[in-house]
Amino acid sequence: MTKKADRKTSRVEGIIEYIIGKSPHSKEIITAFKPLFLVRERLIDELNLKSIDPSSIDGEKLRQGIPCIDQAPFFLKGDPWEKIGLAVASAMREGFPALGEDVARLEKSIKAGDIRLFDAFTDFPGSVEKAVARWSSKADIKPQAIGLMLGTVARIVLQAKSNGIDKHIEGMGWEKGYCPVCGAHPTIAVIREKIAQRWLHCSRCGHEWRFSRMFCPGCEQESPSGLDYFYVEDRRQETAFTCNSCKRYLITLNQISDMGDHDRDVSAMSLIHLDLVMQEKGFTPMSWCEWNTF
Ligand SMILES: [Zn+2]
Ligand SMILES: [Zn+2]
Repeated sequence: MTKKADRKTSRVEGIIEYIIGKSPHSKEIITAFKPLFLVRERLIDELNLKSIDPSSIDGEKLRQGIPCIDQAPFFLKGDPWEKIGLAVASAMREGFPALGEDVARLEKSIKAGDIRLFDAFTDFPGSVEKAVARWSSKADIKPQAIGLMLGTVARIVLQAKSNGIDKHIEGMGWEKGYCPVCGAHPTIAVIREKIAQRWLHCSRCGHEWRFSRMFCPGCEQESPSGLDYFYVEDRRQETAFTCNSCKRYLITLNQISDMGDHDRDVSAMSLIHLDLVMQEKGFTPMSWCEWNTF
């Protein structure tokens, strides 16, 4: 492992410790996902995957709402799929021991060439769902295990290849509620202190973008009663935006300082008590992800 990778890994570990200290109720879930967070940081650093060429992104297409993933190829057959898959499998075994047998079958199939991870990314994101169904019946592996692996692998490749793209697309006039890089809806919004800007975070690829419109990012409708926010007493920084048109919610951190290190996925995970409450109230998340599906 390189020195640089060491430093990055400890950065995420530091954030995780800090968040668990602040929200002890989320210790169990964050601890389970921790090996996956660490393997993501390590691989993005070590693999040195070539980022997509910014010149292949057309500003006019972006303004029409066509995300980068529909303009340039992010997933290539020659990417180190097996290496990424096997590293993710080790992290899954560590964090989710109950999936041990399924992880072992996955590893075996990947090594034998019976499962070629690239096949799940030929027509992203639809091809992922098809691959989960196909491989779970073919190799007798729980769909959750395959889904968790493919979601983690997708995030690693997308985040690595979109490195530097944020600077390129900044100011190109993206006004959509879905991610300009990969097209997914956000899992968490952050309203920054003082300037009160709303930023949306995508857990599929890790991108964050500013959303200045007063609309629901999910359906682009302006709620007749304005924007509704739900929060648990005395924790007013931790809210859930709700939309009465599409009945979806978005976990939102209010008045957050820009200072200090952060990882929005870890923050989102520390707020799953809000996910539970909102889903009990009949709302669905703006974006389903590995930790908000109960
Ligand atoms: Zn994204
Ligand atoms: Zn809506």
